[in-house]
Amino acid sequence: AKGAGRNRFEVFEPAMHEKVVAHSELVRDLRSAAAGGQFFLLYQPQVDLRSGRVTGVEALARWQHPHRGLVLPDTFIAVAEDTGAIDLIDDWALEEACRQLAAWDAAGLPSLQVAINISARRLARGDLAEAVRSSARAAGVDPARLEIEITETATTSCAIEAARALEEVRALGVSIAIDDFGMGHSSFGRLRALPVDRLKIDRSFIAALEPHGESGSIAGAMVAMGGSLGLDVVAEGVETEEQLEVLRRLGCDAVQGYLFGRPMPAEAIDRLLRSALSI
Ligand code: C2E
Ligand code: CA
Ligand code: CA
Ligand code: CA
Repeated sequence: AKGAGRNRFEVFEPAMHEKVVAHSELVRDLRSAAAGGQFFLLYQPQVDLRSGRVTGVEALARWQHPHRGLVLPDTFIAVAEDTGAIDLIDDWALEEACRQLAAWDAAGLPSLQVAINISARRLARGDLAEAVRSSARAAGVDPARLEIEITETATTSCAIEAARALEEVRALGVSIAIDDFGMGHSSFGRLRALPVDRLKIDRSFIAALEPHGESGSIAGAMVAMGGSLGLDVVAEGVETEEQLEVLRRLGCDAVQGYLFGRPMPAEAIDRLLRSALSI
């Protein structure tokens, strides 16, 4: 057993070491990246189910690392949250999304709503409304065109502070969406106490949808819950026509997922909306 233990140690130690080094490099690089223009946003269309139109997009961050190439949020967001770099990234995303919205307007696209992901940590800092106001003003866009996406867990850790920060943002006309809905511990009561406009059903519940399966009942319960709270319900991660059909039947308000488009550069959103216009 001792020998096996030592072997295991010898096998795993270098990998562990590499992981730690890779992690500390990531921490170091993240700091300069936020300042050095290495981040960019992709936008994923959101489709309103009643009109069938693209009415909004979600902004999703990407990191073009000088040596590693493209780094996805699953790799850098958690590290950024641990180190505090997330505040810079979220504020940058807010500014960049506002700038892009103004650019789409100037190009004559139909009026879009842009959703921005804000981490629990950034929300807890308490000055989100100020950041939203100044980003919107700098770009010359109405804050009512913005949506802030907050995960359920962000609102459960410091519920009162989170609610207050969200109230301030919402007072600017910004809408609030609860992201990854179904993964946290939102009760009916808690949701009613929060300033919320939309629920985004987590993609794990959508992946489980089958036309005649039982899984529709969970998504159905979420749509019903949203409805009784007066909230719009968005399904994320919609990949198949079958899932879309179930969501339509359940009375879901909007959908987002690979079926309608992957996260794409701003120019591709421009093309998508122009081609939709000419139909
Ligand atoms: P999220 O907010 O839940 O975003 C949805 C994720 O699902 C995105 O991953 C998107 O590319 C992916 N997705 C969309 N449609 C489909 C689909 O049909 N099938 C599948 N399998 N996946 C789909 P992404 O872009 O890698 O982002 C991952 C997470 O990183 C986001 O999850 C969000 O929590 C976080 N994130 C991204 N950008 C930012 C940011 O600027 N600030 C903060 N705080 N978090 C961000
Ligand atoms: Ca999101
Ligand atoms: Ca989500
Ligand atoms: Ca998710």
